Amino acid sequence: MNHSQTANHAAADSAAPATKDDGFFGIYGGTFSPEALMPILEDLRVAFRHYQTDEDFLNDFRTILRDWCGRPTPLYYAENLSRRFGAKIWFKREDLMHGGAHKTNNAAGQVLLAKRMGKRRIIAETGAGQHGVATAMACAKLGMPCVIYMGAVDVARQSPNVERMKLLGAEVVAVESGGKTLKDAINDALRDWIATCETTHYVIGTAAGPHPFPTMVKFFQQVIGREARAQCLDQVGQLPDYALACIGGGSNAIGLFSGFVDDESVKLIGVEPGGEGIETQKHGAVLCKGSLAVLHGMRTLGLQDEDGQIFETHSISAGLDYPLIGPEHAYLRDLHRAEYVAINDDEAVAAFHEIAHYEGIIPALESSHAVAYGLHLAQSHPGSTILINLSGRGDKDMAHVKQYVAQHGLRRIAHPSTSSHGPQGDKS
Ligand SMILES: *Cc1c(COP(=O)(O)O)cnc(C)c1O
Repeated sequence: MNHSQTANHAAADSAAPATKDDGFFGIYGGTFSPEALMPILEDLRVAFRHYQTDEDFLNDFRTILRDWCGRPTPLYYAENLSRRFGAKIWFKREDLMHGGAHKTNNAAGQVLLAKRMGKRRIIAETGAGQHGVATAMACAKLGMPCVIYMGAVDVARQSPNVERMKLLGAEVVAVESGGKTLKDAINDALRDWIATCETTHYVIGTAAGPHPFPTMVKFFQQVIGREARAQCLDQVGQLPDYALACIGGGSNAIGLFSGFVDDESVKLIGVEPGGEGIETQKHGAVLCKGSLAVLHGMRTLGLQDEDGQIFETHSISAGLDYPLIGPEHAYLRDLHRAEYVAINDDEAVAAFHEIAHYEGIIPALESSHAVAYGLHLAQSHPGSTILINLSGRGDKDMAHVKQYVAQHGLRRIAHPSTSSHGPQGDKS
């Protein structure tokens, strides 16, 4: 990590873009935002760089992570799956986090930072509602008014999360424009922010968006990788051969990867949603199939047609439905430091059942993508040590999985009977 923060010229010279701290990862990232937001993003950048090394702030953040979020989360040996699939499989248990997923780390960090900056109001947008709930929880804890923008279609589809947000004291705005989904919620949240940015902080939920968001979200999620690395050395006695995480915008993955990126022997693998069947060709797997795009305030890879229109994505897992990717992942891919693969809906649903059945853990569908790939790896690399970030728990996915299985049936993940190790891998 670089702490090369030159003194805080707080407001001073906005004319000279601070040397280096421009949020570029190679050609990706940067700040491509409406002019009206540039000063506020600069304020945020300066404040983040300041508090990033402020002991008082870091102490408060650590205390929240420990006492409110329940960190550190355990590193767990998935003994039954390991026996079944022939490798040593370890789960980093972000599903045990307060709120049921890693998203709480980031929401707490950003709301705490906003408070230090003197902001008096928090806004966020949410699709499936998970990030909205995490933000509402953090706002309740830290005493900040909270407004969550959500497409009207999503409000109807995700009523339990809407109820949670309201109970937590947030105002939920149902966005009626356009397709009434995430894209429209983002537009309205941005409009709000442009009008109110003096007093309001906009909590982005993944490692994407204009600088400093990708860097800041990573900073708040680094705790995953830091804990996991120390726990591997302590409990496993070695670093893993592979570290896997699922990828929506890329925050849980970049958090995990950050702990191992300097360890050359650890192969980093991001697992994207491949969608379903033919759809996969167009819609899944941003890093596998995306092309350069400028959207949501950054330059990165996105799934788009010949006219540069960004596709809507279609994964079984709402939390992975994001047609862009955080810029640092695009960079890590180009450097060949991390590899990105896709797992389709059938395989994720199969892994969901395996984990529940053999480990007594109901994982998030998002996380099940990473585990599905991990089980393939276990079979092709018997004896290896595979660390998988279990980014969240899956109670929220029960109804959806049941419906999916009723429609498509349940494919099983082919596995060698007990201890054999055929490279026979996957079979649909
Ligand atoms: C939101 C979510 C994700 C995807 O977001 P990232 O920013 O890519 O981590 C993954 N897993 C769970 C459980 C989620 O809720």
